[in-house]
Amino acid sequence: MELAAARALLPVALQEARAGLAEGGIPIGAALYAADGRLLGRGRNRRVQDDDPSMHAETAAFRAAGRQRSYGGTTMVTTLSPCWHCSGLVRQFGIPRVVIGEATTFEGGREWLAGAGVEIVVLDDEECRSLMRGFVLGNPGLWGEDIGEG
Ligand SMILES: [Zn+2]
Repeated sequence: MELAAARALLPVALQEARAGLAEGGIPIGAALYAADGRLLGRGRNRRVQDDDPSMHAETAAFRAAGRQRSYGGTTMVTTLSPCWHCSGLVRQFGIPRVVIGEATTFEGGREWLAGAGVEIVVLDDEECRSLMRGFVLGNPGLWGEDIGEG
């Protein structure tokens, strides 16, 4: 996927990340798109809001999309490089492409996904980076909890 096309998919995930921050949550957002560009589902990390440690942004977007017969051609867009849990979800359901807002704050399963043939596009987006940097600096304990290093 061309960088410009991938970048055009980022705004919904970013909106979700900002909404999460406004709710006092972890500012990570995601969106799942169909092969034809239709938005299937969107969501954000809801660890704090729902007291649910498994509700990461990618998982929330995936669940919001409901049942899909196939994930062929879909694209998972996330503001931050996916953790092992969400990378496993991508592999489990055969999502072929992941667009990542930034992978500087957190590396996650990015290389593992790429090695398994998942197309990875890293945007290195400034707003995604500053959202996460601000959050991690202000809430190191909560961040450690979310990535299993609490
Ligand atoms: Zn995750």
